[in-house]
Amino acid sequence: MVVVVMASGASNKQVAEVGQMLERHGFRLHRSGASGPIVIRSSGNVALADLNLTGYPGVERVVDVSVPYKLASRTVRVEDTVVQVGDVSIGGGRTTVIAGPCAVESRSQMMAAARAVADSGAVILRGGAFKPRTSPYSFQGMEEEGVALLAEAGRAYGLATVTEVINASSLEIAARYVDMLQVGSRNMQNFDLLRAVGQTAKPVLLKRGMSSTIEEWLMAAEYIMSEGNSNVVLCERGIRTFEKMTRNTLDLSAVPLAKSLSHLPVIVDPSHATGDPRLIAPMSRAAVAAGADGIIVEVHPCPSEALCDGKQSLTPEAFGELMSGLEIISRAMGRE
Ligand code: PEP
Ligand code: MN
Repeated sequence: MVVVVMASGASNKQVAEVGQMLERHGFRLHRSGASGPIVIRSSGNVALADLNLTGYPGVERVVDVSVPYKLASRTVRVEDTVVQVGDVSIGGGRTTVIAGPCAVESRSQMMAAARAVADSGAVILRGGAFKPRTSPYSFQGMEEEGVALLAEAGRAYGLATVTEVINASSLEIAARYVDMLQVGSRNMQNFDLLRAVGQTAKPVLLKRGMSSTIEEWLMAAEYIMSEGNSNVVLCERGIRTFEKMTRNTLDLSAVPLAKSLSHLPVIVDPSHATGDPRLIAPMSRAAVAAGADGIIVEVHPCPSEALCDGKQSLTPEAFGELMSGLEIISRAMGRE
């Protein structure tokens, strides 16, 4: 499939004109937003080469992309994408740390968590309010009240915020409160949800499905991008293997691989990947050494009292130690 890459300064009118011209010649197109690249889905009545597309104002390049993920592919965009989350950037040579509890439980818990992670250098606060739990009898999250508390704690400590969305109604609520939307491992191939977050202007943290291949993960990103939202951050969070001593098996090779196949930033979740607080700091260091653009870590002011994933949550002290070690690796990697 051929992708017509528009120059960053191309106007919506220029993009529309190129699209209309192609359609007049019988090409079938997919538009990713008003100003994004144009994907040519099927050929028209004339040879594409005869149309001299690069002669049209606003057209930067015409690329034949052989891999199934087009907009996410490095061939369409050579430079690293930097995703803006509030005032925070993810990608482009810095290590961005997201931290906070698995789930929002109360105002005091969120305030204590936000203070602790901000003190140690995290820049984005996490906290689930719509929890996709394995058991219907487990704590399901505080919903709107929870996202409001997450946003309040983020504001209080100058942190951007991210929360998981699981369907259209949670998306509608979360988008009113937080800076970034998370699509969880269990929903990585919920194509309706991917399309719906793709129709928002919010950055999306896309977790790898626990049984998904790297190509399927990139195709999930493609669903979001094909709706016009290119602010996608990929997150490796461990995959299912025969090994039972860790919650999942952290596939660190996915980090440099995804970064070479795609221009999107890639971060690592060592908490869900290992399920073991003793492994989280070493795997965080390994992630950054492998080229990850950041990490997302579960931190709880009092892990033994957590309503969700307490066993794998770090105490504020342990998180502080993790951050000291990470800084050394980050500097060694030439990161900010
Ligand atoms: C989470 O981050 O809270 C979570 C549920 O992670 P995952 O979707 O990776 O299991
Ligand atoms: Mn969790």
